[in-house]
Amino acid sequence: MKTLILAAALALLAATGVQAKPAHRWGIVVHGGAGVVSRSEMSPALEVAYRKAMGEALARGAAVLARHGKALDAIEAAITGLEDDPLFNAGRGAVFTAAGRNELDAAIMDGATLKAGAVAGITRTRNPISLARAVMEHSPHVMMIGDGAEAFARAQGIPAVEPAFFFTERRWRDLLADLKEKGLPVPSRPAGAPPEPPANVSLLPRDHRFGTVGVAVVDEDGNVAAGTSTGGLSAKLYGRVGDTPIIGAGTYASNASCAVSATGSGEYFIRLTVAREVCALVQYRHMSLKAAADEVVKKRLTKLGGEGGVIAAAPDGTLAWSFNTEGMYRARQTEGGKPVVRIYADEP
Ligand code: ASP
Repeated sequence: MKTLILAAALALLAATGVQAKPAHRWGIVVHGGAGVVSRSEMSPALEVAYRKAMGEALARGAAVLARHGKALDAIEAAITGLEDDPLFNAGRGAVFTAAGRNELDAAIMDGATLKAGAVAGITRTRNPISLARAVMEHSPHVMMIGDGAEAFARAQGIPAVEPAFFFTERRWRDLLADLKEKGLPVPSRPAGAPPEPPANVSLLPRDHRFGTVGVAVVDEDGNVAAGTSTGGLSAKLYGRVGDTPIIGAGTYASNASCAVSATGSGEYFIRLTVAREVCALVQYRHMSLKAAADEVVKKRLTKLGGEGGVIAAAPDGTLAWSFNTEGMYRARQTEGGKPVVRIYADEP
């Protein structure tokens, strides 16, 4: 009887020209880096600051989706705020190369069209994710690097900042400690950096997290997208590029499977094409998003010796995360649900 009524209702809708629109739940999942995040090293104030920043990034992206916005706009809204926040290793607050510079990488990918944009070795553009999006939308290319990417940014009206804009004392001290550990020479303090504070001024504790930021989203049209932004690894060699801007390694999105953003020891993520691999398991092996993410991160990445994690979103509104480290700054929200913010591995 019910079936008959439903069929009659659908027939009526068809006759009146009203199309039954497939209902999609929007969803957003954000990461702020994975690594050694132990309760003993984290002061209560710092933990509050991280949870607040993650919650705010989630809310910025969710607000776009809740007002029927597009997946790509949600990605950019969430990531630009994290790039501007010195707590994270992206934009301002990025780690330093062994030569004492900040070299930033970012990528964005649209699952509806398979269009993608990526930038690497950025030193003067405040929000690399916006530049990655400009490469995707306003150039015939997928990836641009260094001076060429900066020139393209200026031509697009994306403003420049002085390289010292990205400087933070905390990351500088991380670099000095990393170089000392490796017995490498210490570069001079960057031009334009603020004067060195007295040694007894306490800073944030030394960071053992990777600290990259990333977002994966599904919008109400069922389109997925992913974006990632990073300063890379502290004390990396001049010119080193990690997985973040490599499409398929640190960032990937396709409506045929899912959207993924990764964080961790980039060289391993590149060799395993982690982001694409998660989506391939969903697409061809019909694995659930969570099972696919766990298979790649907890089994394959761990086996190869890589550390880190991924976040993922699927066109049906499913969200997932997986990591093999002590913690990962992470947050998620689905249409109609409450925001969830987590740090440690033992938090559900
Ligand atoms: N995956 C990034 C890189 O290797 C680092 C990170 O995730 O923190 O450049």
